[in-house]
Amino acid sequence: MIVSILALLRVRSDDPTLAIAQQAALSKQIPLMYFILLVNTWGVAATHLHAAPPLLTITFPLLMTLVCGVRMFYWWNRNDRLKPDAAKAIAELRRTNRISWVLAALFALWGISLAPYGDSFMQSHVAFYMGITVIGCIFCLTHLLSAAMAVTLVVNITFIAYFGLTGNEIFIAMAIDVGLVSVAMLLVLWVQYRDFTHLITSRRELELKKNVLEEREVQLIIEQKQTQALSDENKRLANIDSLTNLSNRRFFFSKLNEAEIRLQKGGADFHIGLIDLDGFKPVNDLYGHKVGDDLLIELAARLAQVCRGRALVARLGGDEFAILMETSDSAVATELADDIGHACRQPFTISDTVVEIGASIGISSSELCVEASRGLYEQADYALYHAKRNARGCAVAFSHEHYVSLSRLTVIERAFRDASIDRDISLDFQPIYDLHCNEVVAFEALARWRHPDLGFISPAEFIPAAERLGYINHLSRVLLGKALKETTTWPDHIGLSFNLSARDIASNDQALRIMSIIAESGVRPDRIDLEITETALLSDLERAQAIAQGFISAGMGVSLDDFGTGFSSLTHLHSMPLTNIKIDRSFVTAIDKNPASAKIVKSLVRMAFDMNLKCIVEGVETSMELDVIRELGGCFVQGYHLSKPLSASDARQLASGNQAHASSAR
Ligand code: C2E
Ligand code: MG
Ligand code: MG
Repeated sequence: MIVSILALLRVRSDDPTLAIAQQAALSKQIPLMYFILLVNTWGVAATHLHAAPPLLTITFPLLMTLVCGVRMFYWWNRNDRLKPDAAKAIAELRRTNRISWVLAALFALWGISLAPYGDSFMQSHVAFYMGITVIGCIFCLTHLLSAAMAVTLVVNITFIAYFGLTGNEIFIAMAIDVGLVSVAMLLVLWVQYRDFTHLITSRRELELKKNVLEEREVQLIIEQKQTQALSDENKRLANIDSLTNLSNRRFFFSKLNEAEIRLQKGGADFHIGLIDLDGFKPVNDLYGHKVGDDLLIELAARLAQVCRGRALVARLGGDEFAILMETSDSAVATELADDIGHACRQPFTISDTVVEIGASIGISSSELCVEASRGLYEQADYALYHAKRNARGCAVAFSHEHYVSLSRLTVIERAFRDASIDRDISLDFQPIYDLHCNEVVAFEALARWRHPDLGFISPAEFIPAAERLGYINHLSRVLLGKALKETTTWPDHIGLSFNLSARDIASNDQALRIMSIIAESGVRPDRIDLEITETALLSDLERAQAIAQGFISAGMGVSLDDFGTGFSSLTHLHSMPLTNIKIDRSFVTAIDKNPASAKIVKSLVRMAFDMNLKCIVEGVETSMELDVIRELGGCFVQGYHLSKPLSASDARQLASGNQAHASSAR
């Protein structure tokens, strides 16, 4: 109980917000309190001026006016109203509390010391002064309960003690009255102070909650922004090729799709271009992947520069790039493609190594495209395929002719998917003659396909189509099986020449399958020559060499077909394991009239002899050509003059020595 009463007499230091609020409230009320105090003091002093000594009526009031004036001014002029400081507020409240004790005591003692002077009216005035002033001060100190209590205790105890002991009934009644009123007022004050404290505490809690909420809101906004930034970055990364920083395949196709949708809604036509680097793989193989990567980065920078403001450029993967041109003008598209080709052809200096590459480009226009964007891409791919085959390093635009052949290709593709192709594709056999004895020594198997709708389709058309569409390995195996079956019907000394595709010698698995088909057929390996063309050697020379060596080691022959038509026939002759060369028809045509051709064939025959290679001359169409070849020393020949490709049964007849048929074929 005593502890809690003592606690009421102390300033609370545990609540900074409360202290600040108390200080703010008091700064309005304390000046008023001093005003009441001084007015009342001077009132009493005035009535006692002639009755009491000047020390009490003049000196004390003046001194108090000075002290109260200073305090009043202090409270009035507080300069920390805008920036309240809790620690300072608590210190100030404590000071005010201490001053209350002192001033209350001084004023109470002053009042008591005046009481003996003058008549009973003047004495009543002093009593009234003490009673009313204490009530006024208590009200003004509502927000500092400890100070209000101090004033009440000091003044009232003095008042009650003094006037209660006068023996005067009226003064005793007044003392009791003032005592009771003071207790009641203190109770009211205590309730008010509690409410005030409560209000401030709940306001602070509210404020705190608000702050926490605001903080949470701010945190949420920050988190949202971070998530957004992260998702933007993810989106950016998902659309960017990590090596070159160009747009990637996914972004290209989404933009192509958008352009297509715009077109369907009546937007303008556009072009796309597919870029495939020529000679990139050898750079990678020769100098390593690091140089290859640096080359792609450098190239991407060039592409970005050439295409800036003209087209979107993206890397689709490997050494494939694509452009999307928002122009309907084919001339503009071709010009950009040419610029790209030019930029790619300029030498690159990568880690002190100068490398040169080229770029083949296929372009297609949405104007020529009847199908959806995938169709447009396919058309550009087809144009690129043509560029690669027929115009390496150049730009080729998808044309109407391409459209016709692509449509045929679609029909062909459908047929490939249909297993009946295995049954429908047959083989003709063209005899190869030994000029020394004029006898058939072998047959070259040539694929034939009669399509129910398209009619006869040349192998020159469907073999590349099968290669393009990925059916060639299967087709080769089926045809080889048929050719070997036929070979078993021929006399033992007659061999088989079989054409392999580039894809057949690009895969170890396919090579092994070919070997096992041969082994299972029962045909002696030395009766078989496998023909490969130079284009087969371009993609992966090392693998082709290993596979060819495998065939030779197994006892088979390996021929380089169409010799002389490739880019670097002599290099291949030197580096490839071979047993035969087949001199291309183009050197033989009109050889009797063209001395240059004769000289070339003569040296090729000689070279083959020196290198211990069997030499077959292809495409002999006239007796004059045959005579020249005989004179030049050629040993083996093949051509329409000797025999066109024969059906299997005709070949069988010829092989079994039906000379009548052979001569009619001649
Ligand atoms: P190739 O291997 O050089 O075959 C020779 C081609 O020249 C054959 O054309 C043949 O019919 C033709 N030919 C033969 N003698 C003469 C002649 O005196 N004059 C003229 N103008 N042509 C002659 P074909 O059958 O149309 O085959 C074309 C090409 O298709 C072949 O050229 C070969 O590269 C490829 N091919 C044919 N059958 C197959 C096959 O079963 N598999 C693979 N992978 N390719 C094949
Ligand atoms: Mg051939
Ligand atoms: Mg040939």
